[in-house]
Amino acid sequence: MNMKKPLMISVSGIRGIVGHGLTPELVANYAAGVGTFFGPGPVLVGRDTRVTGEMVWHAVCSGLMSVGCDPIDLGIVPTPTTQLAVEKSNAVAGIVITASHNPVEWNALKLIGPDGLFLDEAQGLEVKQIVESKSFRYVGWDKMGRFSVKTDAIREHIESVLAIPYLDVDAIRKRKFKVAFDTVNGTGGLILPELLKRLGCELYPLYTEPNGKFSRNPEPLPEHLTELSKWVVENRADIGFALDPDGDRCAIVAENGMPIGEEYTVALAVQFVLSKKKGPVVVNISTTRAVDDIASQFGVSVIRTKVGEIHVAKKMKECQAVIGGEGNGGVILPDVHLGRDAPVAVALTLQALAESGKTISHLWQSLPQYYIIKKKVSIDSGDPQRILQKLEMLYASEKINTMDGVKIEKSDSWIQIRKSNTEPILRIMAEAPTPEQALAICNKIILEIQKI
Ligand code: MG
Repeated sequence: MNMKKPLMISVSGIRGIVGHGLTPELVANYAAGVGTFFGPGPVLVGRDTRVTGEMVWHAVCSGLMSVGCDPIDLGIVPTPTTQLAVEKSNAVAGIVITASHNPVEWNALKLIGPDGLFLDEAQGLEVKQIVESKSFRYVGWDKMGRFSVKTDAIREHIESVLAIPYLDVDAIRKRKFKVAFDTVNGTGGLILPELLKRLGCELYPLYTEPNGKFSRNPEPLPEHLTELSKWVVENRADIGFALDPDGDRCAIVAENGMPIGEEYTVALAVQFVLSKKKGPVVVNISTTRAVDDIASQFGVSVIRTKVGEIHVAKKMKECQAVIGGEGNGGVILPDVHLGRDAPVAVALTLQALAESGKTISHLWQSLPQYYIIKKKVSIDSGDPQRILQKLEMLYASEKINTMDGVKIEKSDSWIQIRKSNTEPILRIMAEAPTPEQALAICNKIILEIQKI
């Protein structure tokens, strides 16, 4: 993470390093901005396990109350738990205090509208403008917001997951799956054990204390899951699940200890849900091509969006998609709600496993096989936009998609180059039928970028 930019203010909210930019004043202003934009009424506030969460939480509640909103504290809960609670209540908004998979020194606010979806760019821009112009609608003593607490949001989330129409709880219970899981001392430890017990699983937990002391790099990428891989093998578990700290992303480790890659969490969910219910699938532009191959087997279309949960969720609502998400392990199932949800991913995976009668590695092998390589190229003072334009010119004769950065598509592979919103780097992703091919495509483009 780039230490030169300890604070980022954008249409998706604020994110920063606490003590180096993310101050209580700024947090309170943002909360007051959200309250001013949506007007007085209940606002649900959830937070992840970061040790800075409590300080930020006080500032959020103050800001909300100052503009006549009534903060309802959900406590430490996964991000999807807050989204679901907002959607199912009469709240005018929601605020989640989490920097998701960022390292422990970071924190951030994720802003939720009354429909349980994150704010889109237009809404985020309006909140940002209210904050920048300080046009808060502060209220006097007689209109001050009231504070209250709601303690059952996680229980309600679990009930919603268990109520997925094609989840056969008895069938899963009969299998008595041995499930290992690593929730990185984030919020997953507060929901997964209970959910898995309800599904009759034998539990092998790792780092489930919700104390915010992240036990590994919090992003559930294969290279960060070595401990879980060993844990799965040692305990002869049927499957391992790794979550990020705020519980919206989930990666799978197979029974042989191999991480199957977070792209395949979504691919498995798509395969399973389409076998029950046909309809459009929506994923972001960087998600594995395995999803397209699976969808075409079922004769349904795949719609792709820019990277970012809100882009996927909005499109899913618009086209009434049956399943979707992001290749980083974020599954969105509209039967529960329009947000990336790791507990949903866990339940769908166990149901697919129970029905298939296969091991998870066999189930994975039965899916179309691709390998994705993700790399970063430092651009320091270089202009990312100029580099992207040059690449576009260089590959003008190829099939190019510029929805998000530059994506060059070939018949069996693709490469995408995107500007990072958080670091002075370009993110490069290449997918091909073999790791060698993916690496070759990646290295070729890196050489070209270095020449620009
Ligand atoms: Mg997250």
